[in-house]
Order: sequence, then C-alpha cells, then structure tokens
Amino acid sequence: MSETQDSIRKVSGEVVTCIKCRLSETRKNAVPGEGSVDAKVMFIGEAPGEQEDVQGRPFVGAAGKLLTELLASIGLNRTDVYITNIVKCRPPNNRPPRKDEANACRPYLDRQILLITPRVICPMGNSAIHSLVETEKTVTDLHGIPFEFGTVTYFPMYHPAAALYTFQLRKTLEEDFRKLRALLDSLPA
Ligand code: URA
Ligand code: SF4
Repeated sequence: MSETQDSIRKVSGEVVTCIKCRLSETRKNAVPGEGSVDAKVMFIGEAPGEQEDVQGRPFVGAAGKLLTELLASIGLNRTDVYITNIVKCRPPNNRPPRKDEANACRPYLDRQILLITPRVICPMGNSAIHSLVETEKTVTDLHGIPFEFGTVTYFPMYHPAAALYTFQLRKTLEEDFRKLRALLDSLPA
C-alpha cells in the first residue's frame, strides 16, 4: 500500500470513531468518503443523508445514483475520483450542518485534499461552495465556470439532489459535466 493510501485510511479511521461534534450522537455511521487516492478530481457534497448514514458510504441514495450516472456519462467510474462531504456525519432530519459542526469537521477534509492533491475540486451546491470559497455569489452564478484558487482549480456545480426533480437543472448538470470533461482533458500532465 502506498504511503498516501495509508494516510487516507488513517483519516477514515479517525472519522468513523470521531466525537468532535454533536452529530456523533445521532449518526448511525460516519461517512469518511471514498475513491482513488490518485484522483484528479474530487467531488464534495454537504453532508451524508439517510442512506449514507446507514451504509457509511457517500452518495449512495437517489442523488448518488444520479452522480454515478453523470460520472459515467464522461467516462469516469466512482473509483476514478474521490467523493466526500463537508461534514462526515448525517445531521438529524437532514438539516443543514451548523457552522460549529462544519468547523469541527474541517480538518478531515483539509487532510483529504492535501493527501489526494486533486487538480480539480467540484463543490456541489451552495453549502459546499460557501464552505470552501469566500464569495457572495451562489451556485446559479458560479456553476460550470472554473476558477483558480491556489494550486487547485475549483469547478462549482449544482448538487445532484437539486437536479432530481427539476428537468432543466438536470440538463444544466449534464452540460456542466461535459465542461468538466473538457477541463480535465485540457490539464497539462
Ligand atoms: N447529499 C450529500 O450532500 N452528500 C451525500 O453523501 C449524499 C447526499
Ligand atoms: Fe466528527 Fe465530523 Fe462527525 Fe462531527 S461531523 S462527529 S467532527 S466526523
């Protein structure tokens, strides 16, 4: 096993036993994230939902099914990328994560990003965008437009859950995945 793989497992191991915030009291399973340590692109959602909490895996419910299909549409498997969330435990009744919860959880995400060193980070939805990027703008303004921040390119997207019941948003998300494909293809080796 590579050193990076080992370190990523260490982060996951800490997450599954973490009690740094109140979400540990109501979760069934923490959801560290999963995918390739060599991933060029990282997808970051808001928080685990009901299915994720049961299975301990990210994006395995209805929104996850759509994410998996969108990845396939640009020739990517879930195992080619890294998928995680801003907070690693499900908030009760899927309420939005609170600031102190996101802050308590943030070191795990920061370590994951440092270890995986993705070329592109896709925050999905306003919650993930505003946790990662200092901006007043919303996903409506920012989606599908890459911007550099440090050594990473951010590529904000709509959250797949938002596209489940809105045909137009689904078309937009499909289009943004095509743009993501072009962006990944344009990266210098
Ligand atoms: N929504 C999210 O933001 N994350 C998941 O893992 C599942 C649904
Ligand atoms: Fe720990 Fe994050 Fe879960 Fe809170 S949400 S208990 S900080 S892993």
